[in-house]
Amino acid sequence: METLKSLLLKSENIVVFTGAGVSTLSGIRDFRGKDGLYKINWNGLSVEEILSIDFFLSEPGLFYRWAKGFIYQLEKYEPNIVHLALGRLFQKGFIRGVYTQNIDLLHQKGGVRQVWELHGSPATHHCLSCGKTYTYDTIAPVVQADAIPHCTICKGLIKPDIVFYGEQLNKNILNKAYQDMSEAHLALILGSSLTVQPAAGLPMATYYHGGKIVMVNANETPLDRYAQLRFSDLKDVFEQLSPWIETLNPKNDSPSCQVR
Ligand SMILES: [Zn+2]
Repeated sequence: METLKSLLLKSENIVVFTGAGVSTLSGIRDFRGKDGLYKINWNGLSVEEILSIDFFLSEPGLFYRWAKGFIYQLEKYEPNIVHLALGRLFQKGFIRGVYTQNIDLLHQKGGVRQVWELHGSPATHHCLSCGKTYTYDTIAPVVQADAIPHCTICKGLIKPDIVFYGEQLNKNILNKAYQDMSEAHLALILGSSLTVQPAAGLPMATYYHGGKIVMVNANETPLDRYAQLRFSDLKDVFEQLSPWIETLNPKNDSPSCQVR
């Protein structure tokens, strides 16, 4: 733990990468953990099938019925100790931002202003026919009422801006991720089993450019051997870090200083 603190203090450029494990502490089920969402069948369908773009286009009603209990109840979930600690680190200027595989908007709620969502976000939606955009707040009540959201202009099908299976990740975000991870002196990899490519290869960009990797994940990952430090219990690590983070003075160029 002392080594981790000293790495956080002396690394000028820190980038954070998070996966589903960070959300499980908020009660959101891990996509790929041992009780993972993907192991569940819903009406005989795997979550991987439900989240594929072909399925969405052919059975939008079934997708939205499934998503009603998951993606469209985000207001039920609160940021946990990890989200909040990262928020404090961001505000004090210790981390540049967070790259996440999660689509639950909890990093934003936790106070990180710079979040790059590799798998997209349900915060926005768009009409597949005319491109008109819609907010989560507009669409969630429609889904909660068991209706399929359609465009108010052209009646086209509305799709959340999350990345479905069979869709490409946003190239701009991915390129920026490689760039930022390459430049990072320290990459904190939290709660990701690093099994989904291409995002899973990102920590190696840090490693190959001479940066250090700190890994916190319940299960082993394929990149563990490249990590300077490795912990398995996210909650434990951040319960130890949080009081210490509170004692840190904001860096000169930190967001909390710019506010003053
Ligand atoms: Zn439309």
